[in-house]
Amino acid sequence: MPCEVKPRFVILYGSQKGQAQSIAEGIAEEAEEHGLVADLSCLDQIEKYNLEKETAPVVFIVSTTGDGEPPDNALQFVKRIKKKTLPPDHYKHLCYALLALGDTNYANFCNGGKTIERRLQELEAKQFYATGYADDGIGLEVVVDPWLAGLWKAIKGALSKMASDRTAHIKENAADSAKTTSDSSIPDVQLNLLSLTDHQDCESCVDTDSKFASAASSSASAVSDLRPASSAGSSGLASHSRGSASVFTSAPQAQAVDAEVLHVELAASLTCSIPPLSESALNVPALPPSYLDVSLQEVDSVEEIGGPFNKETIHNVPISGAVQLTRGDSVKTALFLELDISACPMMAYRPGDSFNVFCPNRAEEVDNLLHRLGLQDQRNYRVNVTLRKDTTKKGAQVPAYIPQSVSLLFLLTWCLEIRSVPKKAFLRALAEHTGDSVQKRRLQELCSKQGAADYNQYVRDPSLSFLELLISFPSCSPPLSLLTEHLPKLQPRPYSAASSCLRHPGKLHFVFNMVEFPASSGRPAGRRGLCTGWLFDLINPGLVFPGKAESSGSTALPKIHVSFRPGCTFRPPSDPSLPFIMVGPGTGVAPFIGFLQQREAERQKDPEAVFGETWLFFGCRHRDRDYLFREELESFVSRGTLNHLKVCFSRDDRGEEESTPSTPQPRYVQHNLMLHSQQVTDILLKHNGYLYVCGDAKNMAKDVNETLVEMIKTELQVDQLDAMKRLASLREEKRYLQDIWG
Ligand code: FAD
Repeated sequence: MPCEVKPRFVILYGSQKGQAQSIAEGIAEEAEEHGLVADLSCLDQIEKYNLEKETAPVVFIVSTTGDGEPPDNALQFVKRIKKKTLPPDHYKHLCYALLALGDTNYANFCNGGKTIERRLQELEAKQFYATGYADDGIGLEVVVDPWLAGLWKAIKGALSKMASDRTAHIKENAADSAKTTSDSSIPDVQLNLLSLTDHQDCESCVDTDSKFASAASSSASAVSDLRPASSAGSSGLASHSRGSASVFTSAPQAQAVDAEVLHVELAASLTCSIPPLSESALNVPALPPSYLDVSLQEVDSVEEIGGPFNKETIHNVPISGAVQLTRGDSVKTALFLELDISACPMMAYRPGDSFNVFCPNRAEEVDNLLHRLGLQDQRNYRVNVTLRKDTTKKGAQVPAYIPQSVSLLFLLTWCLEIRSVPKKAFLRALAEHTGDSVQKRRLQELCSKQGAADYNQYVRDPSLSFLELLISFPSCSPPLSLLTEHLPKLQPRPYSAASSCLRHPGKLHFVFNMVEFPASSGRPAGRRGLCTGWLFDLINPGLVFPGKAESSGSTALPKIHVSFRPGCTFRPPSDPSLPFIMVGPGTGVAPFIGFLQQREAERQKDPEAVFGETWLFFGCRHRDRDYLFREELESFVSRGTLNHLKVCFSRDDRGEEESTPSTPQPRYVQHNLMLHSQQVTDILLKHNGYLYVCGDAKNMAKDVNETLVEMIKTELQVDQLDAMKRLASLREEKRYLQDIWG
């Protein structure tokens, strides 16, 4: 039967943290429901795809990392397509759609995807569906969901068009040719066309408008199953003794409840919903197919041959010093750590470098999870993870970060991010393992189209962890394989070097703020960030506090695993005679301490050399509580290493000395930059200088960027667009560089 041959399309993803990959996999999984075959590959799996010969539509899902770079696994691809030797119509035959993922808190929003798209267009590839630019700053799903909803129709349109173009082309050729023999490609084209048409016919009654719709429409009962238990006539509501009875307050049973109780219970929370959501029919995502078999094996001992620490690039180094930089009454707690890297000559680093710290999940949380899964007695068993033979998941693989021979305890401690915020697909799968009907319904709500606002409010915005969710839904009892499929890799945390090897041979310094998550629905007490909380606990007995001069003394401080991050571009100018400006409020000052230590050592080595002017814009809340590295910065100034130190205090009544009645007192670094607009723009636009920004990505980096645009506008007397272009070209020349996080 010809219609058994399904039309194919290609999905290529470039993913840093797994989000683009999981979206790409989701598309591949849904393809079959739409009568299509998806060929899924990562952009670095070059043996699996060939764009030079591709005749099917290609869907790119590409995230962005660092300072607007494509993800690591897309770098080679970008390099290849950027080759100047490619003919200008290299991708003339290619039909593509692209979804770019980014975060507007960073200046180069979606630049990974944009870079690929720009080049595809230059090489004459044709777009068959408008590009989506999804913003993690407000929630990827705001753009991703509607983009996915429209994708299927677009792919089918592209397939039809490509097939009819090809048929027309073949017919033309056939007419031109005197040959009577048949062309072997004709049947294929006809098959493709036929199957596509058949499928479209079949689907005419199905709402292909969204990925949610397909799940709901696949069976009429799917929707009714997902109505509240009350409207389905379930008795689950009345028998449910927890406060969550308010889930169905307007259902017949609940209407009988005392009005006062009703009033009290009408607040929504992580575990409870209120009308209209509690009464709504739900469109939930399709259930993700399971693809891993996980078994536990009792062994005498597990030789942990896998795990994150077997790479040559990861070093186990002692912490040789720890100081709290902020006073006890400061809003944020900043800590300074010194690592002794003298035993690792491989760890030579340069100013501007950042490095990864490998932190474990908290022991008590791992313990809670083991208990919750009923696996506490098997913690030392060996975990065997294999691919399910019967899986329908496209391109399924055992994730590379799951080692082959480790104990269950090791897996949950070092490999899986058990604090990750559960994605909707995970919630959907968890609902299948939830016994209590009210809890199950709530999980379905949280992953449904109708429950999107609740998901944002109770899960995404408070960064609710998987474990916190599990504790809030006590009847949810997922198998270990589900966790292994859905929990992402436990990522190491990057930190910027706050020292120079020239000044501190064999030592590496860094500074961090303790991250604090407040209590929320589902989190009875606040908690600390994973890595910052872990480091704090490690060093706490040996910490030196502000005002106390003694070192951490004889207290033996522990070792941590670290590795350097390659590909750093955040470096002081290679020509030391060029001036540069550093903008680093709070812990953003860290790399600049390294820059200045290096500069000072270079000046001492060669006093006759010409060194460009240096400026540092620093900001904090209070001069006497959280002015990090104050003494060191002031001594850089007194020795002429730092020519201009501009500091502002956002919460102090009195600003810095420069403030006069006619000039407003600067509150934040961008205000201080504006006060020195002339000098800053001269350095950037006339003297070939550099500007570096480091620290908070959410507000500061954006505000500084806008201020720079304003300054260029005024100084050059140009309009907004021209000023933005000028700044963009500084960025391209790598003279305006950012190292931002948050
Ligand atoms: P997690 O448990 O992972 O929680 C992090 C979450 O908390 C984030 O998703 C965010 O939503 C939220 N959050 C709230 N405040 C912050 C904040 N200040 N930073 C990060 N996340 C926050 N941090 C430093 O303190 N000093 C540095 O020198 C430094 N250098 C970095 C260099 C690079 C290249 C990058 C990418 C990040 C850098 N960071 C730095 C951030 C650092 O890697 C961690 O993200 C941070 O310490 C929080 O880790 P955690 O495990 O404690 O928090």
